[in-house]
Amino acid sequence: MIVNKAYKFRLYPNEYQKELINKTIGCTRFIYNYMLGEKKDNINLFNFDLIKQIPSLTIKYPFLKEVDSCALRCALFDLDNGFKKYFNKKGGYPKFKAKGVKDSYRTNYIKNKYKDKIYENIKLDLVNKIITLPKLKEIKIRGYRHLRKINGRILNATISKVANKYYVSVCVEEELNVKEVIPSSVVGIDVGIKSLVTTSDGKTYGNPNYLNKYEKRIKRLQRDLSRKIKNSNNYYKTKMKLEETYRKLKNARIKTNEEIVSKIVNDYDIIISEDLSIKNMIEEAKKYLRKSITNSTMGDIIRRLKYKCTWLGKKYYQVNRYYASSQICSRCSHKDIKMKDLQKRKYKCSNCGLEIDRDINASINIMVEGLFRNYQFN
Ligand SMILES: [Zn+2]
Repeated sequence: MIVNKAYKFRLYPNEYQKELINKTIGCTRFIYNYMLGEKKDNINLFNFDLIKQIPSLTIKYPFLKEVDSCALRCALFDLDNGFKKYFNKKGGYPKFKAKGVKDSYRTNYIKNKYKDKIYENIKLDLVNKIITLPKLKEIKIRGYRHLRKINGRILNATISKVANKYYVSVCVEEELNVKEVIPSSVVGIDVGIKSLVTTSDGKTYGNPNYLNKYEKRIKRLQRDLSRKIKNSNNYYKTKMKLEETYRKLKNARIKTNEEIVSKIVNDYDIIISEDLSIKNMIEEAKKYLRKSITNSTMGDIIRRLKYKCTWLGKKYYQVNRYYASSQICSRCSHKDIKMKDLQKRKYKCSNCGLEIDRDINASINIMVEGLFRNYQFN
């Protein structure tokens, strides 16, 4: 099985390299915004028409010549994807990029053979902890201390800058030997509001409180920032602190989600969850519990469950999002529409008298529904 994996490293560029990275980020943003403007005038322009314009643009704007040309093309592919999503109603109309928001650029791996010598524009040396990137040449990296080699084909690299720190995420195509596990255990999970994850056997994995700590700090810094004079020294200092806190919060979330998912995929062979439309859930919960729901990054958990199960040869099923897991009694299958109310924390069945935690009830229903719809019983 072929899978894509991303390896993210901290980058340690020298002053010259830093300047070039900043320039490249600026140039990719420039060309993205320029072409977005062109598209606004003429929506029928194809991506390939835009790419054809790059050479004439580099004559008009010579600074574009200084940076990795592949990164410029990648920016246009991103723009194209943005429009594809928009036309397929999966996203909004692409927006202009602003400086200081998601500062990054991507560049593709290219391999050439010339006089029996192989030339690669991206090279990863994990023994000496050095990455070679187009135009930037060699840069020191840190991360994956115990990894000596990546067994796979590099597809691309994304260089990013957050709070004056630099990172590179290397996307690699790897061949995985997956042995199908013969299932001997099954679990239904409810991904939700009060606890991040509730399992059908009654375990919960929580919304850790330390995430709140970062959120409080973010709120405070945002307030501070709004009081500072725009573009002053203090403004930038606060802005840096804010970015750094966002980064820490994101990492803490990823770590929590990864731990929960590892535990579940380790413990069970068939895992069933709802096919949640996160957007809908947020809409529904807006009135009551918005904060904790955005807190929990449920979509990230589902995504991790999906790929972890695939990698380990386990089964992952999804139950249709319109299946009323929280309204049905897990003992007698009686349906109670009143249980739609997210604030009711206990399921009380008016038919058989069962009283059970709302999320546990839902996860049992999810398990049964998913198992009978998907699993081939012999
Ligand atoms: Zn009942």
